[in-house]
Parts: sequence; C-alpha cells; structure tokens
Amino acid sequence: MIAIENIRKDFPILNRTVNGQPLVYFDNAATSQTPQQVIDVIVDYYQNYNANIHRGVHSLSQEATDKYEEARIKIQKHFNAAKSYEIIFTSGTTHSINLVANGFTSLLQAEDEIIVSALEHHSNIVPWQMLCERTGAILKVIPMTTEGTLDLATYETLLSEKTKLVFCNHVSNALGTINPIEAIITKAHKVGAAVLVDGAQAAPHIKADVQALDVDFYVTSAHKMCGPTGVGMLYGKESWLKKLPPYQGGGEMIAEVTFEKTTYADLPHKFEAGTPNICGGIAFGAAIDYMNQIGFDAIASYEHELLDYATEKLATIDGLRIYGPKETNLKASVISFNIEGVHPYDMGVILDKLGIAVRTGHHCAQPIMDFYCIPGTVRASFAFYNTKAEIDTLVAGVERAANMLR
Ligand SMILES: *Cc1c(COP(=O)(O)O)cnc(C)c1O
Repeated sequence: MIAIENIRKDFPILNRTVNGQPLVYFDNAATSQTPQQVIDVIVDYYQNYNANIHRGVHSLSQEATDKYEEARIKIQKHFNAAKSYEIIFTSGTTHSINLVANGFTSLLQAEDEIIVSALEHHSNIVPWQMLCERTGAILKVIPMTTEGTLDLATYETLLSEKTKLVFCNHVSNALGTINPIEAIITKAHKVGAAVLVDGAQAAPHIKADVQALDVDFYVTSAHKMCGPTGVGMLYGKESWLKKLPPYQGGGEMIAEVTFEKTTYADLPHKFEAGTPNICGGIAFGAAIDYMNQIGFDAIASYEHELLDYATEKLATIDGLRIYGPKETNLKASVISFNIEGVHPYDMGVILDKLGIAVRTGHHCAQPIMDFYCIPGTVRASFAFYNTKAEIDTLVAGVERAANMLR
C-alpha cells in the first residue's frame, strides 16, 4: 500500500505552482523528483564531510570514501550483483553504454554482428553505430510491431555465431513497453553473444536481479529513480569487466605509472578515472534506500492503478490514440499519445499553461516515431507520488487543449 499523502510530503517540489496552477508533474520518464531524504544527504555531504576520496589519510577523506563505498554496496544489493566491484559508478546511462561500446572496440572484428532493438533510446543506438564505424562490425535491428512490442521471431533469425553483442532496453522510455529481456538474454547466450540491458526506464518501476537475469551488463541513471542527475552505474559481470580495456585514463584508475608502461588498477577503479561525483554517488545510495523503504511491489501496483485509470479516461477523448501495448500489464506507467489533427508540441505548450508537465517530441527515440510516421507524441509518465486527481486534471487539460487546437 502506498500512503500517498505522506509520500507527497517527502517531495517539496510538488507543492509549487506553475503558471499560477498547482504543479502536476507527469514527466517522470525524463527525470524523477527528489525526496527530502535524498536532498538532506546532499546537503549533509557539502556541510559536513566534503573531501576527495580514496586518496587522503585525513578523516574527512576517509568519511567520504566510506560513505561512497557504502553506496556502491547499496547499489550492489539492490541489483543483486555478486560482487561490489562489479558496480562501476558512471555519470549515467549514456556514459555507461559508451564505456562498454568503447571497450568492445578491441574485442570485435570486421563482419562481426551486433544487434539492437527498434525500441531504443538514442543513447543505446548511437554509441553502437560509432563502434561499427571503428571496427567494421554490422548492426542489425530487432523490428517492432504496431503494438509497440519487439518481434522475437525475427530476433531469432538474426542470431548466429557471428553475433557478439545484443543490446535492448528493459522498459522503452517512449512507449512504456516492458521488453522480454529474459528471452532476449537466453537466446543471445545460446550463440555466445553478450547482452547489455539499458535499465534507465525500468529502474524506477522494477527491481532487476542481474544474477537471476544472467545479464552481462545492466546500466541505469540515478536521476530516473529519485536520485540526483550526473550519476549512474554500470553493472558488468566480473569476467567481462576484466576483459574490457579501460575507457578513460587518469588518476585513480592506475596501479603504477611510469613513462615506459602504466598498469591499471583493479576493479572497479580501472573504470573510474578522475574525481567522481562523490556526493551524487552517496545520494544515489540514499535514493535506493528511499525507494526500497516504500517497496517496489507497492510502487508497481500503485503505478499500475494510475496507468489503468489514465488509459481508461484518456481513451474517452475523441480522436486520441495511445501508442504502445494495449494491455497495460505489458507496460510501465508511461502513456504516449496523440490527438488527430493536433501537433504534440502545441498540446505540450497549452498543458504547461495549466501547470501540467508532460514531455512532447520524439523522446530520443526517432526510429519509433518514424515507424508510426509521426513527428512525436505527448508522453505522460507517472510515479508513485502522483495521484488520480492529477490524472483528472490532465484529462480535463487535454480535452480543453484539443478543443482549442482542432
Ligand atoms: C533516460 C534514458 C536514457 C538516458 O539516460 P541519461 O541519464 O540521459 O544518460 C537511456 N535510455 C533510456 C531507456 C532512458 O529512459
């Protein structure tokens, strides 16, 4: 059960007004809001123990190091990684994917094949295209269906002993589709390919167990799950992280440096060159604690209630089309829609005047928009701190905007 009134008190931003109206924040798929518990951790860091980590013998440095490493263990436990050094702190999902894509440069040969799903965010497309340019590897695409799901039968025909890597998101940020990553991973492993799952959009809704999934790489950003921006993580199986060369050179990632030869530090430091986002990492741990305290089962069931409610109400609006799976069980709490004859951008502008924050445009997933032959959609995405009353405000706003724009 979600104690919604108490939860809303944790998020000071939800009290503000926008354009004279109470804020209705439905852009959670772009970034989530931050609870006071996490804000307090950020303030505490800068007020009380701001120092560089892993270097100083002085007390502040040791306190900061301890807290940072405690956060790594919180992340490890949350995603059930076998070892804490399999968790690499990064600046976010985009950084994590680029780290892996870069590492594969020396592991791929021309004519090797890598497979991407049609439902990806640009950050899980472009780094792989760049990898193909560097190596001569070939990029294949798992097609999508009109329902906004992946065509697994075609996926099987793409797999062969040439396939080295498969990458797919756990939940599509543009449509909300929950992808069958278990099947995608099992089938890829049968031909010896590694799998990277982009968990950025799943992280706020689903607690992924990387060992149960047997996934090779799992990545996410803290800011999609109540943490700050500019920090995220890469989970990699130890065997893979040992095989991948470092991404960036610098301080912190070396064992010994001479001008003849430098040797690299052990995991996880090999991939953590330079001073990291120390405060961000600690706050990421606090965000995970906060969400687990509420409980992912409670979050998922409440968000589903919101999703079903919104889907039903929006469907009554004339000319409104929702993209993505019809069955809400196949989705996380994201609704991507358009109204016939209305440009999504115009809808977004009017909703903002009413205090309602939605995302409009291609959601960094242009191939999906091309598939439907549309410039973009209006996307309302719900979090566990949203309410049915806010959805009523959205539905009334969409109706009002549609009447003005048609
Ligand atoms: C938000 C998001 C990303 C990008 O995350 P950044 O924090 O911008 O690096 C990638 N993939 C999906 C599915 C996302 O939702």
